[in-house]
Amino acid sequence: MNPLEIAIGILEEGPICDNCLGRQFANLSTGMTNKERGYALKTVLAMLGHQKFKDGDPSLIQKLESCTNQARSILNVDGSDEKCWICNDLFKSLDVWVQRALKLLKKYQYDTFLIGTKVSGLLAENEEIIWTTSGTISAEPLKSELNREIGKLIQEATNKEVNFERPDILVLLNLAEDKVELQSSSIFIYGRYKKLIRGIPQTRWSCPLCQGDGCEHCNYKGDMYTTSVEGLMKNPLIECSGGVDVVLHGAGREDIDALMLGTGRPFVVEVKEPIYRHFDLIDIENSINRSAKGKIEVRGLRFVEKDMVAEVKIADADKVYRLRVIFNDAVSEGKLKASLDKICTSIEQRTPHRVAHRRADKVRTRTVHFAKLIDMNSGEATVCIRCESGLYVKELISGDEERTKPNLSELLGTEVRVKELDVIGVKHARLKKKN
Ligand SMILES: [Zn+2]
Ligand SMILES: [Zn+2]
Repeated sequence: MNPLEIAIGILEEGPICDNCLGRQFANLSTGMTNKERGYALKTVLAMLGHQKFKDGDPSLIQKLESCTNQARSILNVDGSDEKCWICNDLFKSLDVWVQRALKLLKKYQYDTFLIGTKVSGLLAENEEIIWTTSGTISAEPLKSELNREIGKLIQEATNKEVNFERPDILVLLNLAEDKVELQSSSIFIYGRYKKLIRGIPQTRWSCPLCQGDGCEHCNYKGDMYTTSVEGLMKNPLIECSGGVDVVLHGAGREDIDALMLGTGRPFVVEVKEPIYRHFDLIDIENSINRSAKGKIEVRGLRFVEKDMVAEVKIADADKVYRLRVIFNDAVSEGKLKASLDKICTSIEQRTPHRVAHRRADKVRTRTVHFAKLIDMNSGEATVCIRCESGLYVKELISGDEERTKPNLSELLGTEVRVKELDVIGVKHARLKKKN
C-alpha cells in the first residue's frame, strides 16, 4: 500500500489531527514536522476527492467520500470541530503543558533540559490500534513527537539547550496523572580532603540496629558517630545549592581512628536535587573549612561529570602511612632499619581477622614500596610506609597470626603493634594527570 492508501484507511477510522496523521508517516520525507505531513496528506486527499466527484468515478467516490469529508472537516472547510480520537486533541493544548513546565522550571538554575513523557494507558492503546489497523511501518511513537515538540517550545521560551545525554533537569510530562514533574540532576564536585582529628568516619554510619531510626544502642541518634567527613561538607553545600542531600564518594577510605594528612584524599561529592548549580567553589571551600573548625580541610574543588565518581573509586592509588608502633621487647635501631628494608617487597596477605566477616577470605599480593624509620624512643617508633592500595597496613606490622607474610613482628622476633595510624598521602597515578 502506498502512503495515500494507508492515509485513507486511517481517516476512515475516525477524526484525526494533523499531528497524529502525519506521525504515522514520520519516517518518510525529512525536514517536515508531523503536523505538516498530516496537513499535506489531507490536502491531497481533499483534492483527489474533489477531482473524483467532478469525474464521477463510481468505484472511488464511495471510499473517498467519507474520508475526504473528514479531511475537509479537519481542514476546517466545513467548520467541524471533532476531537482527534488518538490524542484527544493533546497537540492542540501543547501550550498548557509548556506553561505548567515553565512555571516549575522558574525556580531552578539550569543550562540544559530534556523532556520525557509518561503516556496514559488510553493513548498508548489508541496508538497501537492505529498501527495495527493502518498497517503503517513508518510511524513514530506519540511520546517522541510530544517530547520533541514541547522541547522546541520550551527551548524558545527559555533559551536553554536540550541535552539528551546529561540534562541538568528532566521535565517529566505525566499524561496518565495529568501533572508535570521535574527531576534535577545531581551536581558532582571533585576535591581532596584532609582529616585532621581522629574518631570521625568518612561517611555517615547508620546504627546497625535501628538503621537510622534511633534506639538505645545509638543513644537515639540514628548514627554511630555524631559527625563524618561527609557530614562536615553537607551544610555549606546544601545552603548554596538548595539541594536535599550530599553523598561523598571517596578514593578509598581511612580508618576512623586514622588521620588523613599530606595532600589529602581525592573524592567526589554529589549534591542531590540542587536548585542552584552555579556557585563559587572557592567560597564553598572556605565555608566548609571554616565551619569544620579544624576537623577536616578540603581543597581544589571543581565541578566534574558523573563519570568521575567511578574514576575516583576505581583508580589505583599508592597510600603513604605514618605509623606509631610499640614493641613488646626492646629492639635496636639497626635491626629495625634492616627489617624495614626487608619489608619493602611483595606481601602475601590473607584477609585479616578483623574484616574476615565482611570480605572473602583469600590471599592477596600487594607491594610495599618503601618503609623508613622517622624516629625511635623507649619501646616506640614512628615509621613511614608507602604501599600499594589494598594492603592492610596494621597487619603488615602485627602479622595477624601469620596471615600476612612477611611482617614486621616476625622480622624483629617480637610482637609489634600499631598505636596510631595516619594516612599522609594518596597518590593517584591516573587522576594526577588531569589535575
Ligand atoms: Zn491527534
Ligand atoms: Zn540505633
